Amino acid sequence: MPELPEVETLCRQLDGIVKGEKILRSEVLDSLLGEIPQLAGHEFLGVARRGKFIDITLVGGLTVILHLRMTGRLFYQPGQAAPPFTNIDRPLPAYSRLIIHFTGGTLFLIDPRRFATVAVRPSSGAPAPVPDPLKGIAARVFLEMARTRTIPVKSFLMDQRAIAGIGNIYASEILFSAGIDPRRTAKSLTLGEWGKVKKAVGEILRRAVACRGTTISDWRDLFGKMGKNQDNLKVYSRHGEVCRRCGGTIERIKQGGRGTWFCPACQK
Ligand SMILES: [Zn+2]
Repeated sequence: MPELPEVETLCRQLDGIVKGEKILRSEVLDSLLGEIPQLAGHEFLGVARRGKFIDITLVGGLTVILHLRMTGRLFYQPGQAAPPFTNIDRPLPAYSRLIIHFTGGTLFLIDPRRFATVAVRPSSGAPAPVPDPLKGIAARVFLEMARTRTIPVKSFLMDQRAIAGIGNIYASEILFSAGIDPRRTAKSLTLGEWGKVKKAVGEILRRAVACRGTTISDWRDLFGKMGKNQDNLKVYSRHGEVCRRCGGTIERIKQGGRGTWFCPACQK
């Protein structure tokens, strides 16, 4: 499942390609996406991430809002726009659900499990974003948000209503980096400990963006390339292996139905 760094990677790559380009035609291949108006004639203004939403803003006040959910991804093919895929022999990438042809190339929404969503809305109506960890959340803000939260701190970091975009891989890595035991309740962390979490959030997410995301299974960037951040993971999926910080043994537990990896010896 794409998390914040993966979505940020797509937004940055896409923004660099489509800005100022004109849409020639849009094709909806999957009726499960619902009613999507024809986008032909619109020009791209820019692409920005809002939590894990991808906002593609068009000149004239429309925004295409994408959420990739479980298995959605975006794929770009450069080159001249071709006739509609439905009536030519050009190979269509498997699991394509939406295609946007524009002057400089073609953008595909690919999604094997079909949970991704697309909506077209007036740009002015976008909801206010929740705090974005890539832009920095102050330790005081973490402390205040967690003040009444009795859930484990790891589940709190993954609560998308409180904080946007941190999923299972990065929550485990952040708490390892901060030296915090993921089983502790969110409200038990002190201001100083939230300071360590804040620092770890920034370092780990920025590095993951610089590496174009983490490819454990099917993540690919806009150009179909694997990310490189899997080489930086210290605890995720390393149960039974040696802790690189203290020599202890990495363990795996279940929290909220998801695996959590941590070192009981050096995460307090
Ligand atoms: Zn350790």
